[in-house]
Amino acid sequence: MMALTLPAATGFLVSAQLGGDRVPGPVFATRGAHATVAEALSTQTLNTVLVHAGSAADAVARSGDTALVLAGELYNREELLTLLPAGTDGRTDAQLLLALLGVYDLHTFRLLNGRFAAAVALGDRVLLATDHAGSVPLYTLPAPGRVLAATEIKALVPATVHSPPSGRPVAEARRVRRVPGVHQVPAGTVLELDVRTGAATPSRTWTPPVSRRILPEAEATAAVRETLERAVMARTGGTTPLVVLSGGIDSSGVAALAAAHTDGPLDTLSMGTDTSDEFAEARVVATHLGSAHREITVPTADLLGQLPYAIWASESVDPDIIEYLLPLTALYRALDGPARRILTGYGADIPLAGMHREDRLPQLDTAVTYDMATFDGLNEMTPVLSGIQGHWSTHPYWDRDVLDLLVPLEAGLKRRHGRDKWVLREAMSPLLPHETVTRPKLGVHEGSGTTSSFSLLLMDAGVPEADIHRAKSLVVREIFDRVVVEGLPPAEVSTADAVHRVSARLKETE
Ligand code: ATP
Ligand code: MG
Repeated sequence: MMALTLPAATGFLVSAQLGGDRVPGPVFATRGAHATVAEALSTQTLNTVLVHAGSAADAVARSGDTALVLAGELYNREELLTLLPAGTDGRTDAQLLLALLGVYDLHTFRLLNGRFAAAVALGDRVLLATDHAGSVPLYTLPAPGRVLAATEIKALVPATVHSPPSGRPVAEARRVRRVPGVHQVPAGTVLELDVRTGAATPSRTWTPPVSRRILPEAEATAAVRETLERAVMARTGGTTPLVVLSGGIDSSGVAALAAAHTDGPLDTLSMGTDTSDEFAEARVVATHLGSAHREITVPTADLLGQLPYAIWASESVDPDIIEYLLPLTALYRALDGPARRILTGYGADIPLAGMHREDRLPQLDTAVTYDMATFDGLNEMTPVLSGIQGHWSTHPYWDRDVLDLLVPLEAGLKRRHGRDKWVLREAMSPLLPHETVTRPKLGVHEGSGTTSSFSLLLMDAGVPEADIHRAKSLVVREIFDRVVVEGLPPAEVSTADAVHRVSARLKETE
C-alpha cells in the first residue's frame, strides 16, 4: 500500500477494561475527527477514541480474542509480508500487525520499522508498544481492572483524578511530571500488562547498536545513500511530499532524494524570523531541485508567544528541545490548507554527532553513545508538532535501518578531512550544489534566532545572564503545568506571564 497523505489514525486514547464502561471524550492537541470504537473480547473490552482524517476503520483490526489499534504507519511492509503465508490480508498496517501477532505474539514489535504507537488487547493481556525510537509518544495509566493508554498526556489527565494517587509503578518507565500514575512507555519497548492486576512487564524491541562498523569510504557513502533513499521512498509513497528545508545538509539531502522520486516538482518550505533566517541558503537548494518553494517569516515576538503551543504539542519539559521545536511549531502552524505529509531532516546530527563541534574521534563516539542513550522521553520527533495543524511529519534519518547503519559507523567516517557529517555530505554530493554540501552546520534554534531571542526576553525581564538556562527550564515547566497538567488551551497561556513569574521567583530566592 502506498503511503497516504496521513496514516489511518494519528492518535488514540484506549481503555482496556474488565467492565464495559465507555471512555470519556478525550482532549488531544492533534487535530482531526474523533471516532469511537468498542471491541468486546472474552475477558475485556477495548474502548478506543481515534484521532483520524477519514479512514479510522483502517487503524483498527480484530480477529478472535485479539483487537488492536495503531496510530502511525509502518515502513517495512514488504519485508513483513514475507514472514506471513501468501494471501494473508495485510491491506492495512493494522491488519498486517494483527497477522504478525498471531505468529510472533509480542515479539512482533521487534520486527517493525515504523513511526507508530500501538495498543493490543489479547486474552487478559494488554500490549502497549512504541516504535524503535519512541517517535510517537505513548503514555499509560494502569490500574487493576483497567489499563488506559494514550498518545498524549493530556488525554489521560482527567482519569488521574479517580486513580490511586501514585498509580501502579511501571518498571523502567518514566513518570510524567505532576500527573500521578501516568508513565511514558519507553522507546523501543513493548509493555505487557495484565488487565486484572494492572501489572506491567517491559520487553525491549530495539536498542541503539554499540557495535562498530569499519567500511572503505566508497562503500560507506554508497550504503548511506541507498539506505537513506529507501527511508525517504517509504515515507513519500505516491503523494507529493513537502520538505521543510533550511538549506543545511540534512534537510537538503532529504529534499534531493524526495525530488528524485517524485513526479513533478517537490514542495519545499522555509521559515525565518525578523532577526534571522536561512532563506538564501534554502533557495540555492530549491532552485537546484526545481521545487515549488515558499518562505514564511514569523516576527520574533510571535515566535516566543507560541511557546505554549510547542509545549502543548510536544509535552516535553526539556528547554533545549523546546528551542529546537519552537521554530518548527511556528512553521507548521503557519502552514494552513489541506493536510500534508511532511519530510524533515531532523535527527541526523544525533547518530552523526553533527552538533558536537568536536574534532577528537573518541569524544565523538562518546557523544553518539550518550545521545543515543538519552533521547528517550524528549519527544523531539513527536507527530503532534505538525499534528496541531492537521499535518503528518516523518523523519527519514530516524528510520530504523538508517540508524542501524549510521550509529555504529566508525567515528572517522563521521568526521573526516576536517568536515563534520562527512559520510552524509559525501553521499549527497552528486545530488546537491557544492556550497550546500560544504555548508557548516547551523541548528534550527540558531538559524531562526530562537535561542538568542528567548535569552533576550529573560534578560529584559531582569534574569541575570548566569541564570538564563535555569530560567528557561523553569519557564518551560511553568507553561507545561498550565497547558498539559491543568489542561488550559495554549491560546490562553502567555509566555510573557510565565517569564515574569519565573523572573520574580528567581529574585525572591537570590
Ligand atoms: P544542518 O544540521 O547541517 O544545519 P539542517 O538544517 O537540515 O542541517 P537542523 O539544523 O538540525 O538540520 O534542523 C533540523 C530540521 O529542521 C531540518 O533538517 C529541517 O527539516 C528543519 N528546519 C530547520 N531549520 C529550518 C528552517 N529555517 N525552515 C524550515 N525547516 C527548517
Ligand atoms: Mg540547520
